Amino acid sequence: MNKASIHPLARDHRSPETGEQIYAVGIGANRPMAGMRPRDIVRAAFDALDLAPLRLVRASPIIDSRPLGPSARTYANAAVIVSTTLPPLAMLDQLQAIERTFHRRRYRRWGPRTLDLDLLLWSGGNVRSKRLTVPHPAIADRAFVLEPLCAIAPDAQDPVSGLTIRHLTSRLRKPTPAR
Ligand code: ATP
Ligand code: CA
Ligand code: CA
Repeated sequence: MNKASIHPLARDHRSPETGEQIYAVGIGANRPMAGMRPRDIVRAAFDALDLAPLRLVRASPIIDSRPLGPSARTYANAAVIVSTTLPPLAMLDQLQAIERTFHRRRYRRWGPRTLDLDLLLWSGGNVRSKRLTVPHPAIADRAFVLEPLCAIAPDAQDPVSGLTIRHLTSRLRKPTPAR
């Protein structure tokens, strides 16, 4: 059996009763820190996402992508699947605590940053609060998010569109028809 088809983020495989929460997390880095290149920072983030109360279930290959907005450097991006008992807002706190350990400084939106961790998908479905929107609102538009995510969770479902990650990724790759 295809391993991806029994993935807990896939349609019909969610198990909220156990207290186990599964998240897909997007990782981005585009500013060197303490002699570490963005790729090294992403690799270090994999380790940080595997410390209690988090358990790293899968990690994608690390891809290089062009920056969005005014930042000049190339990004390193990846996605991971994490298992934990933390509910969504506590998970966001945990991700922001990890970002702080990488000395992330905010200059401007989409500007350079050491490490950016976004909550992409949650096994429990949707979240809409002041601090947190899950699925991440830009998920369907960003190749640097979808491509790594598709490598580890192609059958995970986006509850907003009802489409799988595989479907969203192939849709993004198709050229827009001329009008
Ligand atoms: P984008 O969200 O477009 O990728 P960004 O990652 O640069 O932009 P940040 O400055 O890292 O944005 O985050 C701004 C705020 O977004 C965070 O403080 C957080 O409260 C909020 N937020 C809302 N939804 C999410 C989510 N799914 N994952 C992470 N942060 C989120
Ligand atoms: Ca982001
Ligand atoms: Ca972010």
